[in-house]
Amino acid sequence: MEMDKRIREALEAEKQRQQNNIELIASENYVSKSIIELQGSVFTNKYAEGYSGKRYYGGCINVDKVEDLAIEYVTKLFQVKYANVQPHSGSSANMAVYRALLKRGDKVLGLNLSHGGHLTHGHSINFSGMDYKFIPYNLNSETEELDYEEIRRIAEVEKPQMIVAGASAYSRAIDFEKFRDIAHSVGAILFVDMAHIAGLVAAGLHQNPCLYADVVSSTTHKTLRGPRGGIILTNSLDIITKINKTVFPGIQGGPLMHVIAAKAQCFYEALQPEFKEYAKQIIKNTKAMAEALEEEGFKIVSGGTDNHLILVDVKSSLGITGKEAETILDKIYITVNKNTIPNETESPFKTSGIRLGSPAMTTRGLKEEEFREIGHIIAKALKNKDNEEIRKELAKEVLIITDKFPIYK
Ligand SMILES: *Cc1c(COP(=O)(O)O)cnc(C)c1O
Repeated sequence: MEMDKRIREALEAEKQRQQNNIELIASENYVSKSIIELQGSVFTNKYAEGYSGKRYYGGCINVDKVEDLAIEYVTKLFQVKYANVQPHSGSSANMAVYRALLKRGDKVLGLNLSHGGHLTHGHSINFSGMDYKFIPYNLNSETEELDYEEIRRIAEVEKPQMIVAGASAYSRAIDFEKFRDIAHSVGAILFVDMAHIAGLVAAGLHQNPCLYADVVSSTTHKTLRGPRGGIILTNSLDIITKINKTVFPGIQGGPLMHVIAAKAQCFYEALQPEFKEYAKQIIKNTKAMAEALEEEGFKIVSGGTDNHLILVDVKSSLGITGKEAETILDKIYITVNKNTIPNETESPFKTSGIRLGSPAMTTRGLKEEEFREIGHIIAKALKNKDNEEIRKELAKEVLIITDKFPIYK
């Protein structure tokens, strides 16, 4: 049947929006045409409850092949023994990890959400905070970086069953080896959630948590540039056995085979030499944008970046909230998100910061020069928020950039 007109309209409008806007949301990216093709493929028609070779349905010969390939490629990519590629999302992957390895009410340490952690790292409005006793750790208030001595101190006092490392809004490299030493010295499991930085890890630019953690989860759609979904990795046969049972039949039914096929393609793409160049460029671009914003007098949280994102303290720089900044930039076709900063004084709906990431626009081919320009455009827009004239000019500049770098050629 033909597509409903109103749905078609929304689809076409979204294509246009993605093409026109400078996308700086740190967790977003543009997938390859092959990945879109696989996600829109006949694999979506197939039920495949169970695992390759052990399915509850007939006709699984081809889906077995793609799931085997996804596991082969992802274990090669992260130099790890075992993988489960079925979690529907990063949150489902994390739910499976907790349910497989903890009892209800067990104690877990996780990074405070307002310091850059994720909802599934123990927030009270999330299942993780409801089912387990999470103790948050904060960033050091002076350096605004992880404070391993403080984490060790909390771990020694609290004696948790698990420590979660990983973040959604942290611009510095994480030392997973230190986390392992702390976790194992108190008999805790180390769980690393590398959702944001997986692409940088795949390219060998950040420490590989699979070498240190008992279990690692990730999304596939952020810096890794694949379809929306989750994965779980481990070197332990005991842990993967528990994880597999928990993912299916524990918390999920039929796997999304079209997405798993697209994940296989994502891991294949990340194994190519071009991906390493892409990941290097992500970091160069973030640094260029951070430098431009610092030249303009903005305060960058923790004083800089080692990865794909920066947090800008717009409140102390200009006296505006993160929400206001997000709205102003939206008007000139720059998409960002408001974000809490360490020692936040505003509510989570307003915030004092914005989070800016480079993965998506790096995929479109932008380099340091354009990222410096974007930094200056952002600064000018925020400094002249009530000037209609300047806003129109900046919107034009943005469209010149996005026209020059089409998403799909
Ligand atoms: C994005 C993210 C997730 C959740 O992924 P979803 O696919 O949105 O459920 C989990 N952990 C961290 C650290 C993330 O940044």
